[in-house]
Amino acid sequence: MTMHSATLAIDETLRARRAAGERVLHLGFGEAGLPVPAGVAAALAGAAERNGYGAVVGSAEAREAAAGWFGRRGTPTGPDQVLFAPGSKALLFALLLCIPGDVVLPRPAWVSYAAQSALAGKRVIGVPVPEEAGGVPDPALLEGELARARAAGAEPGVLVVTVPDNPTGTVARADHLREVCAIASRHGLAVIADEIYAELVHGDGRSGEAGSAPRASDHLPERTVVTTGLSKSMALGGWRIGFARVPDGAWGRRLRAELTGVASEVWSSLAAPQQAAAAHVLQDPPEVTAHIARSGALHAAVAGAVHAEFTAAGARCRAPEAGFYLYPDFEPVRPALERQGIATGRQLADALLSRYGVGVLPGASFGDAPEGLRARVATSLLYGDSAEQRWTSLHAEDPTSLPWVSDALSHLRTALGDLTATT
Ligand code: PMP
Ligand code: GLU
Repeated sequence: MTMHSATLAIDETLRARRAAGERVLHLGFGEAGLPVPAGVAAALAGAAERNGYGAVVGSAEAREAAAGWFGRRGTPTGPDQVLFAPGSKALLFALLLCIPGDVVLPRPAWVSYAAQSALAGKRVIGVPVPEEAGGVPDPALLEGELARARAAGAEPGVLVVTVPDNPTGTVARADHLREVCAIASRHGLAVIADEIYAELVHGDGRSGEAGSAPRASDHLPERTVVTTGLSKSMALGGWRIGFARVPDGAWGRRLRAELTGVASEVWSSLAAPQQAAAAHVLQDPPEVTAHIARSGALHAAVAGAVHAEFTAAGARCRAPEAGFYLYPDFEPVRPALERQGIATGRQLADALLSRYGVGVLPGASFGDAPEGLRARVATSLLYGDSAEQRWTSLHAEDPTSLPWVSDALSHLRTALGDLTATT
C-alpha cells in the first residue's frame, strides 16, 4: 500500500495539533509561506472565465512564456519543448512512467521520487551524496553502485538530480554535476533535473540570474529533462503550476509525445486560469523578479538563523545555500541523545514533537539510513501566520528580529538545548 506522503502527512498532523490549541513549531513541510503579489493574483482572477480544458501540453501563451523564461536563463528553448501540468510532482511521476529502467537517486533525496518509482514498478538505486552538498550522487561512488545494482539484477535507466536540493538545502558543486552527467552518458541513463529551487539560490546569484546553480542540461543536453514550477519561487504550491522542458532532438520529441499521452489520460491539462497566471509570472515582470529576490533573501536569513541554532546545539549541518531546508546530523551528540532513549532519526523526530512541539521529518523519509540521527528541517513556515505578518517578514531589514520569528527561534533553542543537555 502506498502511504500518505511524509511531507503532506506531517503538515496535516501539525496543523491539526495547532488547531487543537497546542504550541507547535512547524519545521516539517516545505511550503514557501509567503503571500501572493497583487499583479499575480490579478492575472489569475482575470482568467476566471477561461473554463475550457485547452490543449494537454498547455496554452501557446503559457508555453511561449516558459520558453522565453528558460531562454533568459541561458537555456534556449522552443515552446514545443514545454509541457505544463498540475504541479511538477505529476510531471515527475509521468516521466518515471515514460522513461524505461530503474531509478538512480541521490541519498538522501526528496520523499516522492522513491514512492513514485515504486508506483511505476521500478527499483531504486540510492547512492550517497557527496559531503559538500546534496542533490547528486557522489561521483566517486556512482559507477560502483551502478555495477553493484546491475549485478543484483537491476537495470538502471534514469537518474534524478535535485539542484538546488531538498532535503539538504545545498547546491551541488558544478564539477560533481558534470562528472555525474558524464557517468550517466557513459551508462546510457536519462537525467531528470528537478530545478524547482533554482530561483532561490542564496546570496549574489539569486533571483534567476543565469549560472547561479549548475544545470545538468548544460552537460547532457540531449538526454536531460528539466522539471520546475512556481510552488517554491512564487510560493504558489496550492495553485499547482508545474512545467517540464524536454530536450531538443529525437529523444526529446518522443518523450514529449509519451508524456503528453500520459497527461491526456490522467489530468487532461493544467487549469486554464493557472496557465494565465503562469504566462504572467514567466515573463519576469518587475513585481515578480523583485518578489523572488526578496523571498530568497528572507529564506536565506531565516534558514541561516535556524542553522545557527542546530550547530550551537552540537549538530553537524551543511550551511544553507538555497531554498529553505536544513539537514542536521546529531551524531556528534549521540551519547546525550542515547541517554534519553533516542538512537534513530525517527526517535529524534518523535521526541522533538512529543516533548517540545517541534515538527521535523526523519532522514529515513528521504531514503537515508534509519539509524542515522538526521532530520529534514524546513524553515519556510516561520514567516508569520497572517498575510500581514508575512508581508512584514518579506520587507524586514532583519526578519529574524521580528517577534514571531524570534519567538520561533527561542522555542527551537530551548528544545534543542534541553534535548542535547549533557547532564
Ligand atoms: N521536487 C522537489 C524537490 C520538491 O521539494 C517539491 C515540493 N513539493 C516538488 C518537486 C513538487 O512540487 P510541485 O508539485 O508543487 O511542483
Ligand atoms: N516539497 C515539499 C516538502 O518537501 C512539500 C510538498 C510535497 O512534498 O509535495 O516538504
